[in-house]
This record gives sequence, C-alpha cells and structure tokens, in this order.
Amino acid sequence: MCARSRQLNQRRKRNNMCGIIGYIGRKDATPILISGLKRLEYRGYDSSGVGVISRDGRRISIRKTQGKIRDLEHLIQSRGLPGGHLGISHTRWATHGRPNRVNAHPHTDGTGRIVLVHNGIIENYEDLRSGLIKKGHRFSSQTDTEIIAHLIESYYKGDPLKALYQAVNKLKGAFALGILFQDHPDTLFAVRVGSPLIIGVGRQENFIASDVPAILDRTKRIIYLKDEQIAVIKQESVKVFSFQGTKVTPRIDTVSFQIGSAQKEGYPHFMLKEIHEQSKVLAHMLSLRLKGTSVNLEGLSLTSKQLKGVSNIVVVACGTAYHAGLVGKYVIEKLAKVPVWVDVSSEFRYRSPIIDRRALVIAISQSGETADTLAAVREAKAKGAKIISICNVVGSSLARESHGVLYTHAGPEIGVASTKAYTAQLLVLYLFALKLSAIKKTLKPKAIAKIAKDLKHLPALFARILENKHLVAKVARKNSHFGCFLYLGRNINYPS
Ligand code: GLU
Repeated sequence: MCARSRQLNQRRKRNNMCGIIGYIGRKDATPILISGLKRLEYRGYDSSGVGVISRDGRRISIRKTQGKIRDLEHLIQSRGLPGGHLGISHTRWATHGRPNRVNAHPHTDGTGRIVLVHNGIIENYEDLRSGLIKKGHRFSSQTDTEIIAHLIESYYKGDPLKALYQAVNKLKGAFALGILFQDHPDTLFAVRVGSPLIIGVGRQENFIASDVPAILDRTKRIIYLKDEQIAVIKQESVKVFSFQGTKVTPRIDTVSFQIGSAQKEGYPHFMLKEIHEQSKVLAHMLSLRLKGTSVNLEGLSLTSKQLKGVSNIVVVACGTAYHAGLVGKYVIEKLAKVPVWVDVSSEFRYRSPIIDRRALVIAISQSGETADTLAAVREAKAKGAKIISICNVVGSSLARESHGVLYTHAGPEIGVASTKAYTAQLLVLYLFALKLSAIKKTLKPKAIAKIAKDLKHLPALFARILENKHLVAKVARKNSHFGCFLYLGRNINYPS
C-alpha cells in the first residue's frame, strides 16, 4: 500500500472515531461534558470545544481550541463559561480543514442561534456550500460541518424538527450530530446516519455520546440510535423519529460492562492492556461456544439445513478484519471444503460479485460501524445472500443489519491497532469452520474432537507467550531502530 493511501485509510479509520458528548438535566453541563470528552479523547484529539445554553436561554456560549482536552479546560478556566444545564461538546479528528480553533466544533449558523457538533463526513458539502453562498450565507471555517448549521438555518421557521427533516434529507455521507437551538433552551436534538451515536437515559437528565464509556459513570441505560433517526431529548423525556417523521419507540438496553473495562487498569497504554486480555477473551469465548466437541454458534440464526446448503462463502471486511478473513479462508476451505472469497469491503461493490441465494456472506468488523462493510452487506443482501457478521459491539449497525451475528465479546477495544478483537475474530472463524465441517461431514468426528481439544489449549498458550513479555520487549528494543520489517510466512501465516 502506498504511503498516501495508508494515510487515508488510517484517517478514515480514525475519522469514525472522533467524539461527541451532550448533556441535558439539572446539573451544570460543562464539567459533565469535559469529563466525558476526556473519556472520548482516544477517539480524536486535534481540537475540541463546548457549547452551552445559558440558564435563561438568552445565549449560547462557545469555547473551543486546538490541542488536547486539557487545553480546552485551561481555556474555560481562564476565560470562564456561563453555567447552563444544556450543552454539547466535541473532540475532533479533522477531515475537512486544518486542525485549528476556527475549524474546531461546535459550529454555528449565520445567526449564531443554531449550534452543532458533528462526527463524520458530508460528501456533498461543496455543492451545498455553493448553493448556500448564492443565497447569501457566509462561512468562517473550512469544514463540511459548518454547512450543516447553515443548511438547517435556511429551513428554520421556528420549528426545529421541521427544519431538521428538510436539512438531513439533503445531506449525503456520514453524520452523527448534536444540535442546540437557542429558541428551544430545553431541548437537545440528535441525528444519526453512519457515524455512531447513543443516548444515555438518566433520572431527570439525559446524554448523547459517540460511545458508551463516555457516559458509563452516569447511566447504564442506553438507546442505540439507528441510522436515519432524529432524537428530541428533554430533561425528562426522549422521543425518536425517523427521517420521514414517523415516531418510533426506542429500545433501552442496559449495558453490563464496567467503566474499568474501558480504562487502562494500570497498563501504560490501552494496547498493552488489550494484548494481555487475549487469553481471558479466548477462554471466555471457548467456554461459551465449545461444549465438549460440539460448537455452539448462538446468534447465527441459520439452521443446519441452511448451513449444509451453503455453496460458497464471501468474506467482506476492511483492514485488520480483512486479514482475519484471509486466515478464515484457509481454515474454512481446509476443514469444511467450501470455497471462500475474501473481499475488501470497499471494492466489493465495484466488481460484479457472483452472489446468489446459496452464498453466505460473512462481514467482519470490530466496531460493527465500518461504513464500507455496511455498504457491501446491503449490496449482498439485495442479491439475496444470507449475511452473518462477526463483530464486537453489541447492537452495532452491522449486527442489526445481518441475518445472524457471532459476537466476539472481547470488551471495548480502544487501541487503534487491533489485538484482542483480531484474535477473537480468528477464533470465531475457526469455530465456525469446525461447525460447518461437522454439518457438511467433511471431517470425521475423531478429527473434530482433536481440533476441539487443541483449541481448548489456546488461552494457556497465549498466557505463556505473554509471560515472556520481557523477552519480547528486549527483542523490540534491539530492533527498534529499523525503519521497516519484511515478514515472511506461508499457508495460514501468510495473511499475517
Ligand atoms: N468532518 C468534520 C470535520 O472536520 C468532522 C470530523 C470529526 O468527525 O471530528 O471537521
């Protein structure tokens, strides 16, 4: 991969990762927003900002700055910020316009009365921008985000929801939005297409956030906003509407993971912690999914008859998950004798994949929000294929859009380089191949029993490797001055 496309891919991966948090309730919004931003800081960190409506609803005050959340905190300490019970905030990883104060979020419309934060990319922002300029709008930033605020303004005649319906239907791309209208100082608006956004339901207070850890210390009751939904959030209520204006009843999930699992637990960084969690994650999965020699693929939602009828498998995935798919190909073809193609999700749509009702598509994504993988899944579904996904985030878009899902249950993965989620994906693929080979009778029971027994040793083997971490560190230090490495491998090690 050339340096430029590597950079773009990295940026795309990170782009999905910047953070939004919003609050409405009785408490002072600013400290809640800042502490939430700190938890989201790993998602994006080139600049950040806060917007708060004053208690009397007379103005929306904004503070934003380039740099880390610490810098924003210092700015607020030195310049002050009027207190308020309703606010939105953002930590940015720039996609349009340099990381600086002007481009940091929140952004406003021309009047300063509509204020919003955005995670994602507006693909048609240039067209929208020139249309708005013709109508007399003036922009102060280089972002795609500012366009959204002006677009809403152009439709706003006093009813925010009406303006939002019109505006969001004009936007192309991915966007999670938190929006304030000065005329409505008791309401927080949220919109989601593509980028993740959740609502935390509290007592006489509610939250929006890009992911659960940001608000886990405040509430465990979560609404996963779906694509093309708008939420109207007040202190005591949450109403959700589709982009067509139909009211929907949202499901409130109670999340079980603890905040500690989203924090570093004494390791110097998340990735190291996650590397060390692998043995536990694999042991957990084996205890759930391997009873004796029988594989339990709960969540798959395919009958044995359907699995038996699978003629070929297409794996769609990006980045690390794509490499898990490549390993999966070796394993499935070897054990279950079913041909497997592995596609980078973004390319899948551009060739003419031969997919029919007997094909099974396996979509792999840690977050379950990878936009290209979601698009590939929609394409394959339209062609009649059955879709199963392998993902880590319960209730994610991919999980919801697949016919069946095999969760990796690896806990939140925060390191950008995947570790435990990747090894968990490999194990799920292995278990799937084992199940398929039992159903298709491509392996004798004795061979299956041998593999099942070997798999059970995995957690201990991982632990043993990690016991040698000092040796690993020594080798790493010795070789750290090299600019690049060439790895050689064949067969199942080739993808790595
Ligand atoms: N595309 C928007 C921008 O640059 C949002 C990026 C983000 O998700 O942080 O600024």
